[in-house]
Amino acid sequence: MSSRLSLFDRACQFADRTAIKSGGDSASYGQLLEDSASVATGLLDGAADLEGARVCFLVPPGYDYVAVQWGIWRAGGIAVPLGMMHPLPELEYVVEDTGAMAIVADAGLLDKVRPLAESHDLPLFTSRELISHEPVKLPVLEPDRHAMILYTSGTTSKPKGVVTSHAMIQAQITSLVEAWGWTADDRILHVLPLHHIHGIINVLSCALWSGACCEFLPKFDAAAVWERLASGQLSLFMAVPTIYARLITAWEKATESEQQYYSAGCQQLRLMVSGSAALPVSTLERWRSISGQTLLERYGMTEIGMGLSNPLEGERVPGHVGKPLPGVKIRRVNDQGEPVADDVPCEIQVRGPSVFEHYWNRPEVTEQAFMDGWFRTGDVTVVEDGVYRILGRSSVDIIKTGGEKVSALEIEEVLRTHPAIAQCAVVGVEDDEWGERVAACLVVD
Ligand code: AMP
Repeated sequence: MSSRLSLFDRACQFADRTAIKSGGDSASYGQLLEDSASVATGLLDGAADLEGARVCFLVPPGYDYVAVQWGIWRAGGIAVPLGMMHPLPELEYVVEDTGAMAIVADAGLLDKVRPLAESHDLPLFTSRELISHEPVKLPVLEPDRHAMILYTSGTTSKPKGVVTSHAMIQAQITSLVEAWGWTADDRILHVLPLHHIHGIINVLSCALWSGACCEFLPKFDAAAVWERLASGQLSLFMAVPTIYARLITAWEKATESEQQYYSAGCQQLRLMVSGSAALPVSTLERWRSISGQTLLERYGMTEIGMGLSNPLEGERVPGHVGKPLPGVKIRRVNDQGEPVADDVPCEIQVRGPSVFEHYWNRPEVTEQAFMDGWFRTGDVTVVEDGVYRILGRSSVDIIKTGGEKVSALEIEEVLRTHPAIAQCAVVGVEDDEWGERVAACLVVD
């Protein structure tokens, strides 16, 4: 096979194994290699290499998404996944910002993107149309080639496109595969969006790198997820805290016999992970009491991949995000670049092979995002007994009141322990005397 990318070389070794289960069908790694070669052939349309051209695609989570993503990569293109729930102006922004050469869509979503393709004079393909091509010889790709652009919101400007290479993606994957002990025998249920790093790297790409099976549900439905968790067929599950909260609500509404069935099945998974937002300790504890599973909380970001993680083996500290993952370097320094003490709230900076190099077409924003080659995450932490705790974003969740830094997340954590408070959000409100005053918005039971 004409590739220097380990992801595809490894897939050859797993040819007969099941890669994806979606929509009631199973597809092997061999099938995925064949269909992605067809997609690549259709996109190349006689050219030898897409040479880093951007291809935007709007395909629901499932087999065709993966065939298209791999097809774009194997043709030498940059994959730009579009958000399924995003309104047209947001899709248009991404198509324009990336200067896309084509749009690929699921047949059921053609009407949504057709106006965009027409107004920008871009070819529009359906995923199935591309999969029907007879594969030709594909370009040989070096790992330093650009692979993907994911859009991430900034506090000051429009979303920025985070550009990653195949080598960076590989570093993000291998770090997690090592830390979380992925093997070909793993089977994971995928319930996350596929225009975001969590769903793309932590779940889908780690599974496919490992020769494991990645299973999709047509849409998020708490009862359907519980059925799969209870089946005893899954070994892994990864989600954001909101999903765990919804699963807890569904469990609480279930009958007693359903609850027993759900809880017993869930205990058979070898690992359940939470990330992309702070996991309330109350959610971790409730989940543990329901499922017997202590969620492993990790911290990461589109720009860096995953940075910190609680351990697979050993103590997972509630409210904490663990230690640096393999290959990830973390530092906490003041404005002069001098290290600060563990108990002083400080932004974490990251470097390593998984960290991105630039935002698409934003040289100035890129420059500001780094300090001496270290990426400034904007996330403020303290370190307690060698374990990191996120206090919040330096911009939003860190409130400066009376000269003191106060974590909005910490206050929320305490408020949530009150029996009358169902949900809460803590913000800093401008105040003449205090600089910022702590304010809370509450949903009461
Ligand atoms: P994204 O690039 O969309 O994945 O968002 C990354 C941001 O999510 C980080 O910069 C953090 O602010 C936040 N984040 C990710 N994981 C955690 C976590 N475990 N606890 C608190 N915040 C988190």
